[in-house]
Amino acid sequence: MFIKVPKGTQDILPEDILKWYHIEDMIKEILNKYGYKEIRTPYFEYTDLFIRGIGESTDIVTKEMFTFPDRKGRSLTLRPEGTAPVVRAYLENRMDRISKVIKLFYLGPMFRCEKPQAGRFRQFNQFGIEVIGTKSSAADAEVILTVLDVYKKLGLKNLEILINSVGCKKCRVDYVQKLKKYLKDKKDFLCSECKERYNKNPLRVLDCKKDSCKKIIEIAPVITENLCQECESHFSEVKSYLNDQKIVFHEDPRLIRGLDYYTKTAFEIISGGLGAQNAIGGGGRYDDLVEELGGKPTPAVGFAAGIERMIIAIDQQKIKWPVEKGLDIFVAKVNEKNKDTAFRLLQKIRNTGLSADMDYSEGSLKSQMRIANKIGARYAVIVGEEELSKNMVIFRNMQTKEQKEIKIDNIIDELSL
Ligand SMILES: [Zn+2]
Ligand SMILES: [Zn+2]
Repeated sequence: MFIKVPKGTQDILPEDILKWYHIEDMIKEILNKYGYKEIRTPYFEYTDLFIRGIGESTDIVTKEMFTFPDRKGRSLTLRPEGTAPVVRAYLENRMDRISKVIKLFYLGPMFRCEKPQAGRFRQFNQFGIEVIGTKSSAADAEVILTVLDVYKKLGLKNLEILINSVGCKKCRVDYVQKLKKYLKDKKDFLCSECKERYNKNPLRVLDCKKDSCKKIIEIAPVITENLCQECESHFSEVKSYLNDQKIVFHEDPRLIRGLDYYTKTAFEIISGGLGAQNAIGGGGRYDDLVEELGGKPTPAVGFAAGIERMIIAIDQQKIKWPVEKGLDIFVAKVNEKNKDTAFRLLQKIRNTGLSADMDYSEGSLKSQMRIANKIGARYAVIVGEEELSKNMVIFRNMQTKEQKEIKIDNIIDELSL
């Protein structure tokens, strides 16, 4: 019995890898266009970073992190998200000295011990962007526009944008009091988790997906009616930037996202057809996170999206993936005696920049041609005794099956046609 892949993880096989290259290329192309620079942080961090960054009472921290001690007993955690590590790196590397506003992006695996289901894995891939150092509402709008541009580049349509403001330290305190007051006599009807949330972080109740709680939340006071002047005008500025760009969005006053660090703008991008997991990305402003992680007060805004869910959405919308280019040249040998010449030729072809391969399994010429067809080689170069004595090889077009003898020295010219 062979060992299987751990629960909630998957192999990305060669037949699918082109999808990943394609998405990664498009992401990098668009993000470069918007002035973002890539940052790569470690896959694990000290656990405290996430407890302080994401929030003690969030689902991620309470039940979804892969946490383990290192050999000296220090607690490490596989990164469940990318923002806290990026902010850690920003502070540790004093990036504020480079420029007042820093625009970063990341791309890579994240880890959460969730119940595996369609589009949800325990090791999943995210791309994310962070704009650190500005409180400008234009930055919030730009983050949303950037992400929409990535989706557009990938051909995704019918995306719904949900947007909300979750307020700031000042106005949220009052709102949470109001919410708590509203929930007080309904506490018995909340799910067991929400009963706990009611005490620890009542705002999290708004994020509950259970029907019983949803009913109660539906008529709860909304945060957008309780924003302070600053949050209120920031929110309306973000919306007017989006309107100006003709971006259709919906306000969802109950959208709070699963992380505690959000302030002011919060948003989600929904793709129809993904079911309960229909959010393909989301983000928002996090003006207090840098300070909470030990830095000076530094406003910031960002976004993250799961690549696996993007792939599902692309497939559901029946968008064509780029097709594999196939190998340029397959080098075949008439018999084993010619294998050294064939090998030398193979390497010579590769050195010109073309892709080339040969079969090492000592198969017949016929079986070598079968392999050449299977891997989609455009041409075959066949090395045989008779031709070699004349310093020639057979040059075969794999599509038309036409073949001719050419001089070895002319191969490269022939190939560049
Ligand atoms: Zn406020
Ligand atoms: Zn609940």
